[in-house]
Amino acid sequence: MIELKNVSKWYQDFQALHDCSVQVEKGEVVIFCGPSGSGKSTLIKLINGLESFEKGDILFQGQSIKAAGVKLPALRRRIGMVFQHFELFPHLTVLENLTIAQIKVLRRSGADAEGKALSLLDRVGLTAHARKYPSQLSGGQQQRVAIARSLSMDPEVMLFDEPTSALDPEMINEVLTVMAELACDGMTMLCVTHEMGFARQVADRVVFMDAGSIVEISPTDEFFSAPKSERARDFLGKIL
Ligand code: ADP
Ligand code: MG
Repeated sequence: MIELKNVSKWYQDFQALHDCSVQVEKGEVVIFCGPSGSGKSTLIKLINGLESFEKGDILFQGQSIKAAGVKLPALRRRIGMVFQHFELFPHLTVLENLTIAQIKVLRRSGADAEGKALSLLDRVGLTAHARKYPSQLSGGQQQRVAIARSLSMDPEVMLFDEPTSALDPEMINEVLTVMAELACDGMTMLCVTHEMGFARQVADRVVFMDAGSIVEISPTDEFFSAPKSERARDFLGKIL
């Protein structure tokens, strides 16, 4: 589904990614973890073209995202992204947040868009809040709306960058539950998260990054029971 081949990325003269290679298969859930500043967000942003890169290549379903003819808006439609800060449209209701891109970008009819939005709100347990504004919802509810909004575009892959890091502890689980259900439904997911319980339960593989490099890629069980690298052992020692 996604393949990074020897990707390097510089911010001016600072090299943020060194020769990163990883493949993610359809239906796989892959967790990216590592210390702050290790390049996780940068790597995720490259995949849907939020940042450019200088060396290497990224293939989406076998095609380079740098290829002529691959348009960024089209790419972003097929690769959903959920950030730490949900950035819903504050002046639109929850329902309108979920229909606007369907209508304006996918050219769905209002009725079709609304039907899809309502079924997604049901899926994330927020049907009762459809007519509210984002400011009337808790952080956890807003993040679930943001996930539903991403799903409204029928993405083939979902990228998550620390989707629960800005939430109060009691709201983290409701968001992780939605993500776990999505994984169960077969969505291909690349998630940056420090939620190691979630990683253990849901992830197929773990990618450990440090200082801009992919240090190890392991099946989840192996990563937690016997990490290959000293640096991953140190990292797990600190956060578990
Ligand atoms: P992580 O998500 O793992 O914390 P990031 O990908 O955000 O790491 O950052 C990796 C490195 O790149 C850090 O040293 C960070 O300071 C640097 N960096 C990130 N974004 C920028 C930017 N826009 N300009 C310059 N440096 C950046
Ligand atoms: Mg980050």
